[in-house]
Amino acid sequence: MAAENSAGFSPREVVALADKYIMKTYGRLPLVLVRGAGVRVWDAAGREYLDFVAGLAVNSLGHCHPRVVAAIREQAGVLMHCSNLYYSVPQTMLARWLVEHTPYDRVFFCNSGAEAVEGALKLARKYAKKRWGEGRFEIVTALNSFHGRTYGAVTATGQPKYHQGFEPLVPGFRYVPFNDVAALEAAVTDKTAAVLLEPVQGEGGVYPATDEFIRVAWEICQQRGALLIFDEVQCGLGRTGRFLAQEHYGVTADITCLAKALGGGFPIGALLATEEVASAFAPGDHASTFGGNPLAAAAALAALRAIEEEGLVANAVRVGSYFREALERLRAQSGLITEVRGLGLMLGVVVKVPAKQLVSLCQERGLIVNAVKEDTLRFVPPLTISREDVDRAVAILQAALTAAVREIELNP
Ligand SMILES: *Cc1c(COP(=O)(O)O)cnc(C)c1O
Repeated sequence: MAAENSAGFSPREVVALADKYIMKTYGRLPLVLVRGAGVRVWDAAGREYLDFVAGLAVNSLGHCHPRVVAAIREQAGVLMHCSNLYYSVPQTMLARWLVEHTPYDRVFFCNSGAEAVEGALKLARKYAKKRWGEGRFEIVTALNSFHGRTYGAVTATGQPKYHQGFEPLVPGFRYVPFNDVAALEAAVTDKTAAVLLEPVQGEGGVYPATDEFIRVAWEICQQRGALLIFDEVQCGLGRTGRFLAQEHYGVTADITCLAKALGGGFPIGALLATEEVASAFAPGDHASTFGGNPLAAAAALAALRAIEEEGLVANAVRVGSYFREALERLRAQSGLITEVRGLGLMLGVVVKVPAKQLVSLCQERGLIVNAVKEDTLRFVPPLTISREDVDRAVAILQAALTAAVREIELNP
């Protein structure tokens, strides 16, 4: 099985060839994954891992969920792509599902998170111009945020390390410290087209917004006539224990961006908007060749139905709190964890040993996790995980912490 899936190449050969032919934009771990099923993945040597990275919050249904696989197989043999000059059934049904299950009225489909953010920024500026005239174009975002790598999205990203070398960036952006209410109030003016926020910052280190910050963001957007945009690319679709993370805050934005888990592992993104805001886009204003193609739409519809019918949002609440309690116990016992934060099955764990070292030690023991900062691990496992999976992951983490301390003592 392993040899078959790696096409006769040894893991070492795959790594060497990838490093030779692919641009060096990723700092990759030397692990060649060849197969996945549910919460588990296998490497080219046939070793099994519990996958608590889950494609970075993409594989929320686990790997190769049977309903998504069946939908893709079936649609692939019927109609994979047709231009958005025409109507298609899967895209229409997917749009209807999203509108019926959220407070939003209309959907635009794209292929990724960054594209969803781009679409939201363009829609917000178009709306502001139409509603208020010239001069209202500013976008206010949070420091430590992450919104993607295209020019608008990377400009919106409030982290200088993602800007360096790519200047000049897109004009008209302002940044405020996340959860700083006073700074937000000062930044939003009659020049502001929109405030763009992640309800739970993901790449930045798993930081939930405070209730007050989100409430004030909503209020001042209302007062100043600016739009509120939530980037739920990572935290949306059940991840935090609500279908949309914004439900925790009791606030509906004007626009919400989705991607990552939307296609059950297949690439697709979307922006959702109210009728009033969506009406700013006229034919020709925005487009995507592949956006909402029948294959991606069929995958996403199967994925969303699985989330709903298999009760995965409730599972994220249940297993998420079980996981959190287990991590809190490990914190008390080990003295090597300083903080556990997050919502549902989107958890950050601050550790006293280098997070990268822990990632390797966990991997050697059969658990895939991600270091989101030098001292912070991020857990975004499939929403399908069980308590037994959590027990296994926490036991591995405990062993890895012990091993990390031993390594540090041996090589201080
Ligand atoms: C991953 C992510 C993006 C970018 O998504 P891509 O599909 O990589 O373009 C945007 N916003 C948030 C919050 C993300 O986590």
